[in-house]
Amino acid sequence: MSHSEISPSNAHRWMRCTGSVNLLRKVPPEIESSEYASLGTRKHALMAQFALLFQSSLSIGLHPTDVVAADFLKSHPLATDEMRYGNFGNQLVEYAEYLMCNQKYGGGPVRAEIELPLDLISVWSGMRGTADAVIYSHDDTTIEIVDYKSGSHPVTPSDNEQLMLYLIGALQMTYKGHCRYKGNHLLTIAQPSDGDGPMRFESCTVSIDMAQNFLFEAQNYAIDAFCVKHPIREPSNEACQWCRAKAICPEYHEWAGAYVMIDACDNEGDAKMSDQLAKRILDNRKSITSLIKSCQDYAIGKLNAGDDFPGYCLVEKPGRRSVIKSDAVKEELLGLFGLDALQPAGVGTLNRLACDIDGVLDFAITRGEPKMTLEPIGDFSGDFKTEGEK
Ligand code: SF4
Repeated sequence: MSHSEISPSNAHRWMRCTGSVNLLRKVPPEIESSEYASLGTRKHALMAQFALLFQSSLSIGLHPTDVVAADFLKSHPLATDEMRYGNFGNQLVEYAEYLMCNQKYGGGPVRAEIELPLDLISVWSGMRGTADAVIYSHDDTTIEIVDYKSGSHPVTPSDNEQLMLYLIGALQMTYKGHCRYKGNHLLTIAQPSDGDGPMRFESCTVSIDMAQNFLFEAQNYAIDAFCVKHPIREPSNEACQWCRAKAICPEYHEWAGAYVMIDACDNEGDAKMSDQLAKRILDNRKSITSLIKSCQDYAIGKLNAGDDFPGYCLVEKPGRRSVIKSDAVKEELLGLFGLDALQPAGVGTLNRLACDIDGVLDFAITRGEPKMTLEPIGDFSGDFKTEGEK
C-alpha cells in the first residue's frame, strides 16, 4: 500500500471521496503530463527560483531591485518567449516582494521559507507535501501559508483543504513540546488576475481551533480511505474534476451520464430538443466533456502499457504548429507586412498573409513534437478528434 496516494494537493478529492484512493489503483499510471500542466510546473519552478534569488540578494545586502526579472528569464531554460515578453516578469517580482515584505505583522522582519517540505505524519503515516512558501512572523505568533496558482480559474483560500494541510504541517514543524505560533494564521492564494494581469493575493484567517478540528477530520478521512473495506465513492464537481478514475467509476457514470443519456424524444416519438433540456445539458457540459476526456485517458493509458483496448489504437500525429516569437522573425514579418498585419500573428493569420503575397512563411512557423493520439480503428469519418488535433 502506497501512502503517497493521499497528499495535500489531492485532498480536494480524497477528503470528499475516500473510495477514490482504492479505485485509482486500477487506473494505468499517468505517462506524460499535459502541455498545460507542464507550463504550470515551469511557472511554479520559476516563481520559486526567482523568490530564492530575491531572498539571497537581501541576505547579502544587495538591493532587491538589483535582481532583474527580465535578465533572469532571458536565458532560463524553463522560460518561454511568452513569459519573457509578457507580464510574467512583473508577476515574479510581485510574488517575491510579497514573500519578503518586512512591513507585515507590525513591521518586524519575517522569515520566509520557499518550497518547504512538510511532514504530515499526524494525518497519515508517510504523508508529505511541499508548501510553495511559509512565512513566519517576527513575534512567533503567526504563520502564513502561500500557495501560487498559475491558472486563470480563480482559486479561493477559504475551505481550501490543501492549504489547511500545509498549515498543519508547518505548525507541526514548530511543535517541539510547545507551539509558539498560536494564530490566527493566514492562508493565502497568489494568482495572476485575468490570466496575465498583476498578481492577486487573497487571504483568509484560521484559528488554531479550526486547524485542530480540520486535523481530526483529515485523520478520519484517511482512516476511511485506507482501513474501511468498501469506502464510499461520492461524485461531486470538486472531487471528480481531476480524478483519473472517472472512466471506470460507476458512481461517476451514473452521476455525469444522467445528463448524457436523457431521452430527448417527445411522446409521439419525434426527436425534440426542448430549451430546458438543452439548458440542462449545457449547464453540465463540464461533467460530460470531462467523462469523455477521462475515457480517452484511460484507453491511452492501457494502450501505452501494451494492453488491448477494443476498437481503438494509437496513431502518431504531427505536432502543433505555432509562430516563432523571436526578434529576428518579428523583424522579417514587420518588413514584409508592416506592424498592423502582425496584430495578432497566429499560424492562421500567417497562412492568410502567405496566400496574399503568394509566398511561404516557413521561417516563422515551428512544429511541436509528434504525439501519439487515440484513433478509432477503421473509422475515417473525421468526427473523432483528440485533444492534440484541435
Ligand atoms: S470519479 Fe469521482 S466519484 Fe469516482 S472515484 Fe473519482 S472522485 Fe470518486
